[in-house]
Amino acid sequence: MDKSAEKKPGTLYVVATPIGNLEDITLRALRILREVGLIAAEDTRHTRILLNAHGIGTPLLSLHEHNEKERSTRILAKIRDGMSVAYVSDAGTPCISDPGHHLVRAALDERIAVVPVPGACALAAALSAGGFPADAFFFCGFLPAKENKRRRYLETLRHVETTLVFYESPVRIIAALKDVCEILGDREMVMARELTKVFEEIARGKISEILPVLSATKPRGEFTVLLEQAQRAAVSLTEDDFREMLRQLCDEQSLSLRDAVARVAGQTGLPRKQVYDAALKIRRIPNP
Ligand code: SAM
Repeated sequence: MDKSAEKKPGTLYVVATPIGNLEDITLRALRILREVGLIAAEDTRHTRILLNAHGIGTPLLSLHEHNEKERSTRILAKIRDGMSVAYVSDAGTPCISDPGHHLVRAALDERIAVVPVPGACALAAALSAGGFPADAFFFCGFLPAKENKRRRYLETLRHVETTLVFYESPVRIIAALKDVCEILGDREMVMARELTKVFEEIARGKISEILPVLSATKPRGEFTVLLEQAQRAAVSLTEDDFREMLRQLCDEQSLSLRDAVARVAGQTGLPRKQVYDAALKIRRIPNP
């Protein structure tokens, strides 16, 4: 890059690359990838395709989750020596459910300048066209692969009152959606598959409507899932759920039954009367 800056440390650029369509890369990203001395890439063969498509011949070095520590040391030595380096993952924004965190942290610890070069990101693309509120959202990354862990994790999301977003592999998408439906209720969802690619599909509907379609053929491709926020979803609560929610609100937080019912109705999206009738039945307490 700049010859006069040879003695000064270089910069680490964290560069977003396409999530499918090779045109989804910014002019600035292309310039940086052309100008740096080295591109560290999650998979050099994969990145070479992108670089060839844009006529960029910068040398590549692999940096993935299994060699991130060792390679980070090598890369930081080059940056200290004056070379600027770009890091790219296979697709989208590095560090978002992708390697890169260790490299970025190590660079920051050495007071090396870390500059983001933003661009494609599957969760942002899905949210932008999904139709659910995205002023705030909860990104879960990949749900745990093991069923027990996944179900326990989903329990913790029951009352998150924003749109939920998660990544999932085609191998686990059906099992994951079945668990989601059982634990979080039959919510409205958006299934964003193969965004920006030839077979892009954005399906909208209840989980119970999308699951059978998905199960009819072997799921293929990359999936990003959006789920409707909790308070607007018709969460199906068991008697035990009700009892536990009311016990916590009345006994631990000292709320009156009326206030507890309002809170539960707000959290679940269920009609207040339905919650109130159920509460009376469960707790067998007179009208306040
Ligand atoms: N860093 C990437 C980003 O910025 O979105 C995410 C990398 S993560 C390893 C890969 C996961 O992202 C896929 O399994 C899928 O869940 C989601 N994903 C990536 N590309 C996608 C696409 N084109 N359409 C839908 N989801 C995608």
